[in-house]
Amino acid sequence: LLQLYMPLHFLGFVYREIKHSLADMERMFSLLDENREIQDKPDALKLNARNPAIRFDRVNFGYDTNRQILYDVTFEIPAGHNIAVVGQSGSGKSTLARLLFRFYDIQTGSIRINGQDIRDVTQQSLRAAMGIVPQDTVLFNDSIYYNIAYGRPDATQEEVYSAARSAHIHDFIMTLPEKYETIVGERGLKLSGGEKQRVAIARTILKNPAVLIFDEATSALDSDSEKKIQAELKRIAQNRTTLTIAHRLSTVADADQILVMENGRIIERGKHIQLLAANQSYARMWALQQRQQAISPDTDSRLSET
Ligand code: ATP
Repeated sequence: LLQLYMPLHFLGFVYREIKHSLADMERMFSLLDENREIQDKPDALKLNARNPAIRFDRVNFGYDTNRQILYDVTFEIPAGHNIAVVGQSGSGKSTLARLLFRFYDIQTGSIRINGQDIRDVTQQSLRAAMGIVPQDTVLFNDSIYYNIAYGRPDATQEEVYSAARSAHIHDFIMTLPEKYETIVGERGLKLSGGEKQRVAIARTILKNPAVLIFDEATSALDSDSEKKIQAELKRIAQNRTTLTIAHRLSTVADADQILVMENGRIIERGKHIQLLAANQSYARMWALQQRQQAISPDTDSRLSET
């Protein structure tokens, strides 16, 4: 019996690992392909994630040796602050988030959280401290309850419902035929982009992470959903250390600091108002988006298209 049990047990373990990895990283990180080389050091410590301050110090990085992607990237997110990163498609914004998760090791420089180099801490403690609301949430073929509770599997039903209410998805769920037991995902009920993102927000609220990463949706949501989601994101980001990867300037105007990236370099940084006054790249992007909005208010103007 043991001979039968062990392989089955192992398969169950692998299945859970795959499920967990996909949900944690969503579309942005494909763990099975990308995480093979990253190992914990034998003496790796637990990350101290209380009031985390994040610092990238002269980070140089390429996915492979013949193409450098980030050049000398230095910035700090003080504990509880929200830093937004903007820039053209391919400029390296999502790469910053992947590196913060330590999906890859950098070639030179350091990434520290509360002074601890992320290469010196366990990956488990690093990822436990982080929550991501990705562009495009991948749902499991499982109940919507499972999909939310996944953020913290030991959560009580009341906590799951409360997270769903905060993410403005509870009322919608109650209209579904099987309510929280409705199967969603590829083979279940298909949810819209906005509904999926709200599931991701509920999951993140439940996880209650110290560090938040928002990867703003590039796919258009209707502007009403978009506004509600933005308001909700703002609420959960309060007093948390937050990195927002933005495609629309209008959603980052109130960030504590905005980093403008171009070809893997930070070319400008400051608050919205300072960047407008500087009248450089950010100001040009802002003017262009304003013009596009004026011409066609329903057209979703994104940096990647400018
Ligand atoms: P977008 O706004 O389109 O999401 P981005 O600014 O987030 O773009 P990144 O995803 O960080 O851009 O990509 C930066 C560069 O790194 C791009 O040129 C991209 O082709 C390259 N890149 C991204 N992921 C990989 C990978 N897994 N392997 C090799 N190159 C990659």
